[in-house]
Amino acid sequence: MKIAIYPGSFDPITNGHLDIIRRSSKLFDKVIIGVLINVDKKGLFNIEERVELIERVVSDLPNVYVKSFQGLLIDFMRAEEANILIKGLRNVTDFDYEYQMALMNKKLDNEVETLFMMADSEYSYISSSSVKQVGKFNGNVEGLIPKCIIEDFQRKIKELRG
Ligand code: ADP
Repeated sequence: MKIAIYPGSFDPITNGHLDIIRRSSKLFDKVIIGVLINVDKKGLFNIEERVELIERVVSDLPNVYVKSFQGLLIDFMRAEEANILIKGLRNVTDFDYEYQMALMNKKLDNEVETLFMMADSEYSYISSSSVKQVGKFNGNVEGLIPKCIIEDFQRKIKELRG
């Protein structure tokens, strides 16, 4: 079985993430979306909410699973018996960062193969943080995040404003 992990913060999942997930699901037997628990950084959505939103978005993809993890990515990969790591690349800034991470993960576990997938030109400008910025100032997030999570996104932004 070819099992791939697609890790990230997904706060929230965007159409750019979803495009990488859909394309990966055609290439591997199983794709596990690993939602990173970062204790130092409070996000817009908590981990349970992020997992729930992603599950909703990928519900039509039978070989895609969503799990949260903490600590080293290679430990999560070992636990899931996965040795393929998927990363999306939007630009050279992503590349600089991801290249270093890929080499570090390889050093920690020689079995790990990082595969880079180029972002679709339609989505390459989208990041979770820019979507949050748009939402914060009442901008239209249609086309940036999946339709089925827009309501939850707007509700959360409103809650934050108080
Ligand atoms: P963000 O940078 O949007 O906060 P994450 O940290 O959750 O996203 O990123 C998880 C992975 O998805 C990384 O490999 C990142 O490069 C990739 N990614 C993020 N946004 C996009 C996009 N619009 N298109 C393709 N890949 C993306």
